[in-house]
Amino acid sequence: MHRLFSVMLAATALVCWAYVAEPARAQSRTAQEQLAVDIYKELVEINTVTETGDTARAAEAMAARLRSAGFSESDVQVFTPASRKGNLVARLRGTGARKPILLLAHLDVVEARREDWSVDPFKLIEKDGYFYGRGTADDKFMAAAFVANLIRYLQEGYKPDRDIIVALETDEEILDRDALGIQWLLKNHRDLIDAEFALNEGGPVGLKNGKPIRNSIQTSERVSLSYQLEVKNRGGHSSLPTKENAIYRLAEGLTRLSKFNFPFKLNATTRAYFERTAELEGEQVAADIRSVISGRPDPASLSFVRLSANPVYNAQLRTTCVATLLEGGHAYNALPQVARATVNCRIMPGEPVDEVKATLVRVLADDQIVVTQIGEPILSAPSALHEEIMGAVAKLSAEFWPGAPIVPTMSAGATDGSYLRNAGIPTYGHSGLAGDVDDVRVHGKDERVLVKSFFNGQEYLYRLVKMLSGGG
Ligand SMILES: [Zn+2]
Repeated sequence: MHRLFSVMLAATALVCWAYVAEPARAQSRTAQEQLAVDIYKELVEINTVTETGDTARAAEAMAARLRSAGFSESDVQVFTPASRKGNLVARLRGTGARKPILLLAHLDVVEARREDWSVDPFKLIEKDGYFYGRGTADDKFMAAAFVANLIRYLQEGYKPDRDIIVALETDEEILDRDALGIQWLLKNHRDLIDAEFALNEGGPVGLKNGKPIRNSIQTSERVSLSYQLEVKNRGGHSSLPTKENAIYRLAEGLTRLSKFNFPFKLNATTRAYFERTAELEGEQVAADIRSVISGRPDPASLSFVRLSANPVYNAQLRTTCVATLLEGGHAYNALPQVARATVNCRIMPGEPVDEVKATLVRVLADDQIVVTQIGEPILSAPSALHEEIMGAVAKLSAEFWPGAPIVPTMSAGATDGSYLRNAGIPTYGHSGLAGDVDDVRVHGKDERVLVKSFFNGQEYLYRLVKMLSGGG
């Protein structure tokens, strides 16, 4: 009894200590770290949901911070191509010995509903060693780190051998559909963001059970392109069904598509990705990977089938097309006159887009299923693995995440890096932000970032950009 009581007392003391310790730890932050958190908090707490939020307000808030830190009016500009839509461009001037480096982050975020979350998504909440809030990972960590680090360079009088440009843009989450974000900057102020290369989101540090397993650098993306599949029929009364039915025809075509795999393709990035991944995987998967990337693999082989069953690896192996939307019919008691599906494809870089449509038509194997491309794809070639960047990344990464290999990646999805690549600015997705590979909450509920990853990542980016601009 007494013993239990003392345990309870100890537990109570521990709880009290934890409460006392929290603010003490917060106070032990350096001024630089505190500034980064303040900026982060301000960004997260300005609602910048692409459709309903205000990226112009976020851009203005960041501009105010940069100006009050000593940047001139002309080196900090905010552009608002539409109401509630803002882009910021800021420049730290260097000696001009080399072409600038561009640090890109997006200000907008995906919708988050209070009722879906355990906490208010538009408050930066520090809890259990994490920062919670919409955008904490995607992409306000990078935005905050870039702004805080730019201020830090200025305050310490750092003179880089090239200008360091920070661009914070709007509408990335809708791939800049209305051309108000990165496309607007490229079109109207190319001179302000022109750079030898850019760092962008898309390449985090992967943790497994708290241990760093890879530091990724994203050099390419699959191209997103959707198709509409449509079957028309004269319809009729549902009491008199015929064998010809728009819904059945479409469903049968979709079933054929569901069983089809696009051919396997490897590029320099995915080859390097698989080589590194094989070193980290268990015996069986490693053997499967090695067999698949060696020479001409047999798509019917067990290795191939097993590897393709993993959606992450499958997305690196080939173009994929999947049904995402379905509609059809007009009344419960009528035969459908129309049935439609949307199929979203993610196409390997360099693969001709026309071939994808031809393949779809062939696989659907029904001339009554009319296939129409929706919109235009944003094509982009992979950015070559740049020696200076890879060298700096390898050196720093060994210090921050010892033992974690540098893994070049191709994003299965898409970011706005493709616009920059198309404009001739090689773009590397690389954030230095470490997170659990099995706990990815980007775009989802309770998005969060480890507090220690936040500070570590901020410091990593500070050092990396310095190394890439002649500062050691
Ligand atoms: Zn993002």
